Amino acid sequence: MIHQLKLVILCLTFLLVLPQMAGANGSEDLYIMKIKAKDKHERTQIANLGISIERVESDYVMGTGTKSELLRIESLGQLIHSFPLKNVEIQGFPSEDRDFHDYNELLRAIEELKETYPDLLRVEELGRSIEGRLIFNLRISEDPDTSGNKPGIVFMGGHHSREHVSVELPLHIAKKILKLYQENDSRVRSLLAGREIHIIPLVNPDGTEWDIRDNTYHMWRKNKRVNSDGSFGVDLNRNYGFQWGTGGSSTNPRSDVYMGKEPFSEPETQIIKSFVENHTNLTILVSFHTFSELILYPWGHTYDSIANQTDFAVHKTMAEKMAEWNGYTPQQSSDLYIASGDTTDWSYGQHRLISFTFELDPRDFNGGGFYPGQGRLPTVYQKNWEPALYLIGYADNPYRVLQGTHNDFGLSTPLVE
Ligand SMILES: [Zn+2]
Repeated sequence: MIHQLKLVILCLTFLLVLPQMAGANGSEDLYIMKIKAKDKHERTQIANLGISIERVESDYVMGTGTKSELLRIESLGQLIHSFPLKNVEIQGFPSEDRDFHDYNELLRAIEELKETYPDLLRVEELGRSIEGRLIFNLRISEDPDTSGNKPGIVFMGGHHSREHVSVELPLHIAKKILKLYQENDSRVRSLLAGREIHIIPLVNPDGTEWDIRDNTYHMWRKNKRVNSDGSFGVDLNRNYGFQWGTGGSSTNPRSDVYMGKEPFSEPETQIIKSFVENHTNLTILVSFHTFSELILYPWGHTYDSIANQTDFAVHKTMAEKMAEWNGYTPQQSSDLYIASGDTTDWSYGQHRLISFTFELDPRDFNGGGFYPGQGRLPTVYQKNWEPALYLIGYADNPYRVLQGTHNDFGLSTPLVE
């Protein structure tokens, strides 16, 4: 009885905090599910059915999936409860979330930065999304006209449409670095003296616009590829070409974790591929996502850890240090469940970049899930500022983190005998 009551209360809380979501086109057959799963193996089985897992708890997960995926979970006896997204209609963003940038507002914000900081910032057009929107890189450097001379780091956001917080954080990092540099902040000045910083705030502009159409949220995750069966969208974070399609993604175009027809089938992932290939000075890559408050490192496609013990130690040490600042949980990605074709397996596996996926605030659906509201942004900015500077500091040589030739901010210091 008490358990039933608790469940009812949990469900009600869950419903109340979810913002308004309209169900038209593309999201109409999606369901939110609470599914029994007690370890990474059971969670991987769920991911392999094509369900997008959004939150992991000790004995269950929360995820989104189609009707057929829901029926499959039900037949396996693992479904705790579910409800269709289209039945959730509760007031939310965007009228109350004006601090978030839609595509055009992002373009304006970037233009403004370009005009304000002509000596530090170059805005590069990397290419166009499937619907023709521009994907930008903000290159911040003391000598912006000569790229590639200094060690580089890249921060990316907005792979997944509904993860709007992941777009705002990299934009904020860019703004703050530029502002502090101009104000003669000594730490930012010393970092910039020896680094090139790249920020790609929005990898999936089409999906992001689609998610906020009609001033409501639609829980859209993928891009806007028109698939052969008439559905649309490829999961960009299952489309990268390292161990693509080896688990935790789906061949069903209607799935939220549809891997695409082939590796790098999408213009958005091709753009990131070319960007990394063309910037051989990069040493660290960070991909921001939401939500769950995690710092993840490779591998995602296998339960094995990175075989190179030094590389493994660098990832683990850095993740644990950054977690001291933002309070997130540091762990190997596949400790959650298997997911293949993601950005960081590729950037480490193919290019040996030290690579992290941050799952930003909030921790769970009760904190707002994908739509925590703009009131959450200052907290996200504050928590992740030190981790960002720390990574920039180590971008000359991330392996220094194991060698004791550094201070807490990752800047080189002489060895003390
Ligand atoms: Zn994501």
